Amino acid sequence: MKSTIFKPSRAVIIGTGAVGTTTAYTLLLRKRVAEIVLIDVNHDKAVGEALDMNHGLPFVGGVKVWAGDYPDCAGADIIIVTAGASQKPGETRIDLLKKNASIFNDIVQNITKYNQDGILLIATNPVDILSYVTLKVSGFPANRVIGSGTLLDSARYRYLLGKHQQIDPRSIHAHIIGEHGDSEVPVWSLANVAGIGLDINDEDKQEIFDNTKNAAYSIINAKGATFYAIALALDRIVTAILEDESAVLNVSTFLQDYNGVSDVYLGVPCVVDRTGVREVLDLPLSDEEKVLFHKSADKLKSEIANLKS
Ligand code: NAD
Repeated sequence: MKSTIFKPSRAVIIGTGAVGTTTAYTLLLRKRVAEIVLIDVNHDKAVGEALDMNHGLPFVGGVKVWAGDYPDCAGADIIIVTAGASQKPGETRIDLLKKNASIFNDIVQNITKYNQDGILLIATNPVDILSYVTLKVSGFPANRVIGSGTLLDSARYRYLLGKHQQIDPRSIHAHIIGEHGDSEVPVWSLANVAGIGLDINDEDKQEIFDNTKNAAYSIINAKGATFYAIALALDRIVTAILEDESAVLNVSTFLQDYNGVSDVYLGVPCVVDRTGVREVLDLPLSDEEKVLFHKSADKLKSEIANLKS
């Protein structure tokens, strides 16, 4: 009789700061994977975080968590990268680029020494450009290099729209696309509830979008970092992958002739399943949205060109 070897699902989280640990804790509480490996340049921090989470296992059970190193990436289904510098008050995400791009070169090379088949999920900022760097350094196919993109921004937008419309945000269909950052684009032309367009005046629209775009600045000013909602967004992506959901999520993906935009990572609605990004959905943008989307792409492309020079 042929025996089947059971392979437990494994997520590796690189970077055990605010985002990495909250993501690990979220995956643990929701039992998304059987094994969670924590890796950080500050190994003691990863050890402490793993120990703290292990002490919760009598209340949760069923998940192994440990502080590891790059060899533990072997056989991992998903490797989530949250390592690197984070925004300080007044800093933009792009301000982090030089520092985090060089960290990423090393991290991605270390991962790919041990793992060639997994999915790389990037959260470190500027997330779109670092996803592009990851694609180039890893040599992985683009469907297996995913940035968290504008999934969080779209969640902020849907939350604010839900509040305005007095509708559960899960029933609001609305997208933020483009850069996860200052040039992001709200797709007002397609925002709807049950297929019905939203009737919102221009002043309220502007306020909702400003609060969406500037959410991270407000939170960082108030408490130093954002981590709960991004952890839930990463959990959502992990679930769509591991459960082969074909869920439509606004993640950052490599674009080729998307509304005339190519060779850059940006957030757009994608079908996410066990293969990663299975398909990119072509949004019928209005002319104004197209112009803004192109501007967002041009901004990131010129940052990538600066990085190369
Ligand atoms: P943090 O400072 O709390 O944690 C960063 C961790 O990375 C630290 O533990 C540090 O030791 C580790 N690290 C640094 N260099 C490393 C390396 N070479 N190898 C392994 N580990 C290394 O920061 P944070 O608040 O957790 O934020 C992490 C990143 O996530 C930032 O870039 C932040 O801007 C980004 N972020 C992204 C989103 C999003 O929507 N994509 C949302 C929030 C935060």
